[in-house]
Amino acid sequence: VLRFPFSPRPVPTSPIQEFLHSLHARLRELSEGNVADYIPELAHADPDQFGICIATHDGFVYEVGDSRQPFTIQSISKPLTYGLALEEAGEAAVLAKIGVEPSGDVFNAISLRPQTGAPLNPLINAGAITACGLVPGDTVALKSSRILATYSRFAGRTLDIDERVYASESGTGHRNRAIGWMLRNFSILDGDPTPALETYFKQCAIRVTCRDLALMGATLANGGVNPITKERCLESKFVPRVLAVMMMEGFYDESGAWAYKAGLPAKTGVGGGIVAVVPGKMAIVGFSPPVNEAGNSVRATKAINYIIDSLDLDIFGSTR
Ligand code: GLN
Repeated sequence: VLRFPFSPRPVPTSPIQEFLHSLHARLRELSEGNVADYIPELAHADPDQFGICIATHDGFVYEVGDSRQPFTIQSISKPLTYGLALEEAGEAAVLAKIGVEPSGDVFNAISLRPQTGAPLNPLINAGAITACGLVPGDTVALKSSRILATYSRFAGRTLDIDERVYASESGTGHRNRAIGWMLRNFSILDGDPTPALETYFKQCAIRVTCRDLALMGATLANGGVNPITKERCLESKFVPRVLAVMMMEGFYDESGAWAYKAGLPAKTGVGGGIVAVVPGKMAIVGFSPPVNEAGNSVRATKAINYIIDSLDLDIFGSTR
């Protein structure tokens, strides 16, 4: 008989890990929502996939379920490219082209100010396409490699583009093209809008996992520095600006309800991912392909809400 110190010691299990396991098991049963199929390639996603991941501002990661399953970032890209545009084009130039008002609209609404044609904010498609126009580079290749490098720094690993999803959206994204030409009409985009549009389609097709998104969010929670690689990904002065637009528009026409209930900046994507940021503390990510009418993952929304409630993370909660 082996005695201490040779007997195997029980592996310490974190209470957070156990908490995530039971939450995952409970919400897996949920069957609301449908996999997005307006981008034909997204329709192949497995509706049962479900992952949750928390990454703290100091680099601890807790994950459960399909947290290493790659999927396309879709609209969760928008705040990251907005941050890049702020850094590269400067705040004044960006504010001259893209507003910071809530739209109350669906993500692909035209949502341009009637007088100026400026998109209401950077998280609706019109604003995100404009932000792609402001990223340096005249070609899609230059712009998208810049974007890919930035997102990779946020995630702390080299990301890639799902070329099938890109081709699928590029082949069917006529509404976004129409938005691009409207932006050209109002001189919000200069010249042919195609490079900005194709760059937008490419950035939406960047492949990430829950863990990647959690580290991206934790980088925002940590003032723009990736908590594991310690690389700066966004100038600290722009981090609160990016979080503010996420609070206001991260869930599109459900943003008010989200802010009211969750009290945290967040961003959703039709690939099924959602990242919520607890400033100075952590990021919470859910991923599951079935989305509701607004394009927000049903399981991920519920999972993140439950975590926020249980751990008392609502930024307005300190007033209780
Ligand atoms: N690429 C998608 C689109 O423009 C992104 C939408 C989303 O994730 N809400 O339609």
